[in-house]
Formats: sequence, C-alpha cells, structure tokens
Amino acid sequence: MENKLIINEKYSKENHPTIEGIQIIEGKNNFPISWLNQQGYCEYQIYLQYMKGIKTSPTNAMLRGTEVHNTLEENFIKDATPATFDEVVEMSKTQATISRECFVISPDDGIRGFIDEIWMTPEEIVIIDDKPGNNAYPSTINQVRAYCLAFKNMTNDKRTIKGGLRQRGTDNIFWSEIFDDDAENQIRFTINRMHALFEGQKPFMATKNPNKCRSCRYQSYCEECKI
Ligand code: SF4
Repeated sequence: MENKLIINEKYSKENHPTIEGIQIIEGKNNFPISWLNQQGYCEYQIYLQYMKGIKTSPTNAMLRGTEVHNTLEENFIKDATPATFDEVVEMSKTQATISRECFVISPDDGIRGFIDEIWMTPEEIVIIDDKPGNNAYPSTINQVRAYCLAFKNMTNDKRTIKGGLRQRGTDNIFWSEIFDDDAENQIRFTINRMHALFEGQKPFMATKNPNKCRSCRYQSYCEECKI
C-alpha cells in the first residue's frame, strides 16, 4: 500500500460561545468524535471538562499513548507523499493507499475528528482507531463508528466501510465490523444524544460505577463522585 499524507480541507467555523471544543459549522454544533469515548465512560466528565472548564493533568497512560502515537506518525510521514482527501479517495479506487491522522468531518451530523489510520483499497475502506488495551468497550466502538459515518458522508463512496480497533503499537486488530445500516442507526442515536446534552435538552448523566470514579481524574472536582 502507498503511504498518503492527507492535507486537510478547511471549513468556515466559529467557536461555541460557552462550550470549549464545540465549533459551529454550517449553523450546527460540531463536536470532536473523541468525546464519544468519554461519553461512554461518564457523561459528567464532559460536563466538568468542557462546560465548567475544569483542567486536570494528563494521566501517565495518556502521556504514554501520545508518545506511541507520535512515534507511529513520525515513521509514517517518512515515506508519505502529500495529497488531498479527494485525491486519495479517487486514487484508492485503483491502487491501495494507507493514511494516518486523516481529518473527517460531517457538518450534518455535527461531528469531526482525526482517524488514526485508514486503509483505502479498491474493494473496501478500513478505518482503524488505536487503543491502549485490547478490550472493545461500547464507548470505543461508538468512536470508530462515528469516524465511519463522517467518512461515508464525506465521500458517498459505495465501497464497503469497515471499522476496527487496534491495540496501540501492534498489528492486533481486536475488534472489527462492517459499518452497516444497523451500526449507522446506533451511532446516530448516540450522536443525537450528545447534541441534546449540549443544547440543554438532556442532563449529563454521571456514572453509577464507583470503579470508574476511582480512576477518574475529575474526582476531586466532582459533586457526583461515587467514592
Ligand atoms: S468522579 Fe465519577 S461521576 Fe464524577 S466525572 Fe468522574 S467518573 Fe463521572
């Protein structure tokens, strides 16, 4: 496969007046897809971090993840040639490509984010999200499904789209699925819930699991903490 460094295309956007990280794109709130991972862990974290603006230090696991991620990125760039998103999609219909840190955005669904790695072959599109362990949690599945949805909306490509979770720093893809209508409906439901939270139509739900609170970096700021 040929390494392709995708150059991001720009959209006009403005920052949300009160929620850090939300952008308003084409008249709709647009949030980072990575927030879906937090939503599955505890929605209240999102409230504390982005609505109340509480800052905490990154955990050791986060720092280690960033380090591995950066190493992969540096190695990839050495052999990569630049191209636009549309050029890579078109080229991949006849020649397999591999790209990292591919920016995807769906103004209609109000989501955006960077795909860790994407393989585009004439037969299929494989969207990979790297994770520190090898457990497929609902939250991480939601994240990769949202990338699939954004990619699909950007291209309207008829090729099969697959989502996969890979153990960071290895070749171990420990979960994968075809992004079918069922997966699309499920992720749309969750995305709509996120938008309802930001629009104040629904409350941010705190986890009831004290084990999650034990390893939460917001516990000392959280009035909903269960320990
Ligand atoms: S301490 Fe518990 S309830 Fe509070 S944000 Fe963290 S995980 Fe959620």
